[in-house]
Amino acid sequence: MVACGSLECLRTYDSSKVIRFWSLKYACMKWICHICVSIYVGYTVIIDKRYQEKDNIISSVHTKVKGVAQTDERIWDTAEYTIPMQAIGSFFVITNIIMTENQLQRRCPEYPVAKAICSSYKSCKKGSVDHQSNGIQTGRCVDYNATIKTCEVMAWCPVESKKTAPVPAVLKSSEDFTVLIKNNIHFPKFNYTIQNIPPNFNTSCTFNKITSPLCPVFRLGDILLAANENFSEVAVEGAIIGIEINWDCNLDKWFYHCSPKYGFRRLDDKTTSQYPGFNFRFAKYHKLNNGEEQRTLIKVYGIRFDVLVFGTAGRFDFFELVTYIGSMISYFGLAAFVIDHYISLCSCCSCCKSPVKEYHFRKKYETVLNPRQVMYVSYVDEPHVTVIKKHLKTSLQCTKGDVFESHPEKFSDAVNCRTKDSDKDSVMEELGEMRTLQQRRPNGSSSDRPAWCCCGKCRPADKRHEQLCCRRKEGECITTSPLFERLVLSRDNLQDTLLYKEPFLDLNGENVNDKLRHCAFKKYIHWRFGSFDLEDRTVIPSCCRWKIRDTYPKVNGTYTGFKTI
Ligand code: ZN
Ligand code: ZN
Repeated sequence: MVACGSLECLRTYDSSKVIRFWSLKYACMKWICHICVSIYVGYTVIIDKRYQEKDNIISSVHTKVKGVAQTDERIWDTAEYTIPMQAIGSFFVITNIIMTENQLQRRCPEYPVAKAICSSYKSCKKGSVDHQSNGIQTGRCVDYNATIKTCEVMAWCPVESKKTAPVPAVLKSSEDFTVLIKNNIHFPKFNYTIQNIPPNFNTSCTFNKITSPLCPVFRLGDILLAANENFSEVAVEGAIIGIEINWDCNLDKWFYHCSPKYGFRRLDDKTTSQYPGFNFRFAKYHKLNNGEEQRTLIKVYGIRFDVLVFGTAGRFDFFELVTYIGSMISYFGLAAFVIDHYISLCSCCSCCKSPVKEYHFRKKYETVLNPRQVMYVSYVDEPHVTVIKKHLKTSLQCTKGDVFESHPEKFSDAVNCRTKDSDKDSVMEELGEMRTLQQRRPNGSSSDRPAWCCCGKCRPADKRHEQLCCRRKEGECITTSPLFERLVLSRDNLQDTLLYKEPFLDLNGENVNDKLRHCAFKKYIHWRFGSFDLEDRTVIPSCCRWKIRDTYPKVNGTYTGFKTI
């Protein structure tokens, strides 16, 4: 990739290079992935209507309860049994009632709960009050009835005399009441308004899930039944019931649909034993002739109905479709992900290893080691390049490394490196020479030969990474081979290489020896490592390095050597 540090990137296009495998198995995997993704995309576009722009609902609810109930004492009409609630879209229907009439501000005995029962004045504490009290204790203990004494309280007297809801419920006939729910909805994005009452609405209808699913008049008993509850049981303690109105509107002309779906469920927890159901108290006040205030306390149990409206509308939008398909295109990369993982899995899992899969793996993955941490060495008597990854604790020669890569073409590369006399016969001849070199024993050993040297031509070196011989085992030095002379040292050859790069290079110039020396190092690396990729981290054996240095010496005689990091 061209680095975008210059204007160059404005005039260029960078593209990824891909590898094509001729493999029926991978092709099948690819097409299975593509077909699965296509089905998924098609399904979501059509069934989930992902081609539509969506909008959320805005709604208003108005309810009207109708019906008349009769109890032993009186008739109850709409004004009495329905109480408007504070919450939006809620209404409350009384189903059970405890009335305490004609209460006045007086002193009277407390209702006999455990804490209020007393035997003497000592049990009652003046000014005491708790959450179950009806008033504030006066400190006296008085008769509640013939058998029980309770603490006297300052309260609305007489205090409420019942603690549990009457069974059966007083207003259980409210089961037959009906409620009309008017629901107006609006989708602001599409400026579309509709209501749940159809234009040809028949006022005499009653909602039925099958026969009349759009009728907005609901019988309370039917609502409870649809929520899997028994009205007579629920009426005793009360409950909270949700009426769900779900609008799922398709505003496309060709598939227009926009009508409500009703659902019912109980919202409070009927299994709870503390404060079950739904109840509250209120009072009606009036003045007596003497100006004193009197009230009727009413504790009501009933069912609160919460109307919950939700839904969305969708309409075809070209940009929505394009955006969705664009986001789905990335899923087609799934095939590459699956197949790449399959290839890498097969290379490390012994059960499915095969030469073909290993070949594919090698073609697909190129191992790049961090060049700052490794050194590459090549021995004349070993057919592969060795990589040393660890920190040197002894001489480089004695450090064990791993096989990095074998170079079967190592010697044939010499053909490309050579600039003259390159015919097949001579190459074969040279290969023969190399083989002989690999087997030959050294003629003799120098007296100042370092301990790590196996060829007898290396020189002592202080730095561990410079303590490297051209051989692993005892034998003839590579520098004594005619090939070394011809491929690495040959002045003509090196000069040709330099001129190949710079045709008008002054070969009699000052620093030409440095250029020839560096060129010889490169020639050696190319010859022995087969590639220039590793150039920076390859270590040239001591014998070869000195042979080259001696042939093309530096003026001041100080050499940099291999740079460690
Ligand atoms: Zn040596
Ligand atoms: Zn050597």
